[in-house]
Amino acid sequence: MIKNISKNITKRLCTGCGACSILCNKIHLEEKNGYNIPIADKNCTNCGQCLSVCPVHNNQFKNFNSNFLKALSCNKQKVCYSLISNIRSRSASGGFITQFLCDLLELNIINGCIVAYSDGKLENQRAIVAKTTDEIISACSSKYYPIPMLTALKDIDTNKKYAFVGKGCDISGLVLLQKKLKYLQNAIILKIGLMCYKSPSKTSSLTLYKEMTGYQYNFGSSKLYYRYNGWPGDAIAIYDNISNSMPYSKSWGKILALKSYSKHCTICTNHLCENADIVVGDAWYRNKELVNSPKEAANIIIPYSNYADELLNKSINIKFEKCTPADIINSQKNLIQIQELALLYEYFRKIFQNNILFSIKNFPSAVKLLLKYNFDFIKYIIRIYKHKTDY
Ligand SMILES: Cc1cc2nc3c(=O)[nH]c(=O)nc-3n(C[C@H](O)[C@H](O)[C@H](O)COP(=O)(O)OP(=O)(O)OC[C@H]3O[C@@H](n4cnc5c(N)ncnc54)[C@H](O)[C@@H]3O)c2cc1C
Ligand code: SF4
Ligand code: SF4
Repeated sequence: MIKNISKNITKRLCTGCGACSILCNKIHLEEKNGYNIPIADKNCTNCGQCLSVCPVHNNQFKNFNSNFLKALSCNKQKVCYSLISNIRSRSASGGFITQFLCDLLELNIINGCIVAYSDGKLENQRAIVAKTTDEIISACSSKYYPIPMLTALKDIDTNKKYAFVGKGCDISGLVLLQKKLKYLQNAIILKIGLMCYKSPSKTSSLTLYKEMTGYQYNFGSSKLYYRYNGWPGDAIAIYDNISNSMPYSKSWGKILALKSYSKHCTICTNHLCENADIVVGDAWYRNKELVNSPKEAANIIIPYSNYADELLNKSINIKFEKCTPADIINSQKNLIQIQELALLYEYFRKIFQNNILFSIKNFPSAVKLLLKYNFDFIKYIIRIYKHKTDY
């Protein structure tokens, strides 16, 4: 029986995070059909270690969905933005992440951070270890493109301290890796999660480019920016030095979010990155009409850990304002809805995986499990709806 990550690939469930390739040097990532696919080489001993750090293999819905609501009930959410106008206008929304990382670097709390770099060329988008404020700023804004974030862990100095920025699946892979590799526990001191609806594949970017310019993407000379200048920021496609723009509502809403993406995104239960120290999203509740309005550019953040609270108090160039749990829920309605669906799927999958309906021998434990998941699931749905109506 094959015990390595190949089964994720055949089921098209791999998110391409790269965790398996950090744990095992017999695995490398290759690009295939627009995704980063881990390939086990011929010397693979089938030991199964790679599966132990794979966020897909270890997706346990019971681990999630409580931190988010717990944080909201303690009123930990905030709305915020960078006070440096260059950062606020270049970033995805309020520039919180870029500013927070720059502040932490200047305060010597971190020596660097793992972020997603882009110069507009799809072929150059990659995870980097940024060690200066210029490098952090060069990696600002959202890349709706598959980037194997954990591969940059190979480039860190294990005696230094870093922050890591990633989506729920990246953070889950990192948490699993930190359980296995002690040096990562010491080196990665802060995990910043992105609220994440889904991650489009490379094909989605190529389709967007073609729709915007009428031409195929030309590797080498073409450029594509997803959220450029302002809030929420237009997509910009550059062909032959001619720049074409498309509003965010169309580029994300009609193309990127609808075309191809990892199948795992449809069953993901960590859209709100509940195992990060802090999760960051867009303050959509401030801009319902989706018009480019730089003055409204802001983030919503939820610090999950006490350490994140402590660091937020030290940040110098960020303006914090109050917001309500309803503002968070209003900003993330789509995301919460697909998380509910994923939980429902996971709930039934657990029931059938444990053979509850057919196993007579395991009847007592099966009933216990059924009640437990039933209870957790119902509790979660009630809490979500309670929050929707409470505030
Ligand atoms: C695929 C994807 C889906 C998202 N879905 C939602 C959503 O549904 N709702 C929502 O509110 N927010 C979503 N976000 C987050 C949002 O787009 C902003 O990134 C977030 O609000 C931070 O804003 P900021 O102004 O602080 O970002 P910035 O200051 O511009 O910093 C963004 C940071 O994220 C890093 N980054 C960019 N792209 C990636 C990537 N693909 N993988 C890992 N790191 C990356 C950058 O390197 C940078 O450090 C999503 C982001 C991504 C990448
Ligand atoms: S999800 Fe990550 S850890 Fe799992 S197989 Fe894919 S790249 Fe490897
Ligand atoms: S939806 Fe979930 S699986 Fe998909 S990219 Fe986002 S965090 Fe990862």
